[in-house]
Amino acid sequence: PNHPLYLGLDFGTSGARAAVIDDDGRVVQDVKMGYGDNAAADWAGAWKRVLFELIGSLDQSVRSSITSVAFDGTSATALLIDPRDGAPLAPPKLYNEAQAKDIVAAAKAIAPPAHTATAATSTLCKLLTWWYGTGDGGNWRQVASERGLALPSPGSGVYDSGVTALPPPLLLHQADWLAALLHGVYDSGVTDWNNALKLGYDPELESYPSWLMEQPFAPLLPARVVAPGAPVATLERRVAGETGLPLDCLVCGGTTDSIAAFVAAGVTEAGQAVTSLGSTLAVKLLSTTRVDDAAYGVYSHRLGDVWLVGGASNSGGAVLRRFFTDQQLQELTPRLDPDRPTGLNYYPLPSPGERFPVADPDLQPRMVPRPDDDAVFLQGLLEGISQIEAAAYSRLAAMGASPLKEVVTAGGGAVNPKWTAIRQRLLGVPVRAAEQGEACYGAALLARQGARQAARKLGLTASE
Ligand code: ADP
Repeated sequence: PNHPLYLGLDFGTSGARAAVIDDDGRVVQDVKMGYGDNAAADWAGAWKRVLFELIGSLDQSVRSSITSVAFDGTSATALLIDPRDGAPLAPPKLYNEAQAKDIVAAAKAIAPPAHTATAATSTLCKLLTWWYGTGDGGNWRQVASERGLALPSPGSGVYDSGVTALPPPLLLHQADWLAALLHGVYDSGVTDWNNALKLGYDPELESYPSWLMEQPFAPLLPARVVAPGAPVATLERRVAGETGLPLDCLVCGGTTDSIAAFVAAGVTEAGQAVTSLGSTLAVKLLSTTRVDDAAYGVYSHRLGDVWLVGGASNSGGAVLRRFFTDQQLQELTPRLDPDRPTGLNYYPLPSPGERFPVADPDLQPRMVPRPDDDAVFLQGLLEGISQIEAAAYSRLAAMGASPLKEVVTAGGGAVNPKWTAIRQRLLGVPVRAAEQGEACYGAALLARQGARQAARKLGLTASE
């Protein structure tokens, strides 16, 4: 028999990527694909096409050994579908689409103060736009009624008489919908703790809170919310035939793209953290305690039995790019001297305004005076960003998160050894580069976890 393999599928902002790993976490195959030039005209259609093309592009020998699959999608990308066949009733609303002011006000009227579901881009706000039919949210009602779906009216929550035997429309996240295209279970709707957070789901209670359940649109929420990586269902028979994946291939609970990238780094213990040094500076820390503070944009996702506490600064690599090309960064780096701090005390920002670790919408960038030597200037900028990173972890500790033990680095800045040395000095804990930083790899780890969980369960029942 073949060795079992595990497939992770990442549907990110600019394209989709698949990684297949083995039991030891080695990458067996890795393929990626853009969504195509016309994707924006039909996002759902493009995602579906790319899903099956990506799977089809895997070697047949690899495909036939895939034991389980998990997805990650962009956070707060939502679809409204017919729960009988998964057909979208309206164009999806993407992760970064801010909803109108009156919709945000409606979310704030029902959610607790400063809840993450009240952000203008939250999934809850997207559902409310559809629900009230404002702006571009209106046409789906006609499509739904032509399909005979049960339609509560926005004011009352009372279903139109005569059609109550049919199900109401269903809200799914991008990762949920793609997974459902493989397992074919739509009816009650399956999602995961991470994707459902911006809808208002409470991963601590493991249920939707009462303020959400008492809303007239509650029947549209996906009812089954699983842990990321939890076994969900095996493939739909027709899909197995079409894709060449095994019939008993298990589809597992998914997550969001940024959490999948965190999972990829392979950290598992409280106190371990991942800093992403990309265009922006994001920190994520595993903690035994949950920390949420909307004023700083800090909130906690649940991963297994620990919390993933995250925050993001507006500082980061985008500021470096303003002054230096990546090639210049490489050329200047050997001249940096981490043991001799410049004392420039910069606060590098691409534009005024900061959220975390300082919540100040008017905070001014501090990047002067600029020394004549570019290497000294660069060192000052890297020291400034490192100070922000250190302050970010101190802030999380002050908010009650587990103490920092180790920092793993992802993103474009991870390759710079001098910067790593500067950061290690300021952070006071070991700093290393992540071996894996791709979200699809993290999704594959979740798939492996789900397959092992299912195998343990089977073992248990067999021996009982
Ligand atoms: P994104 O968030 O856009 O995906 P990446 O993870 O690709 O970002 O990282 C890109 C960032 O990394 C750029 O802003 C760039 O300034 C920074 N970067 C690239 N090379 C280096 C280097 N040698 N040293 C420090 N920073 C670098």
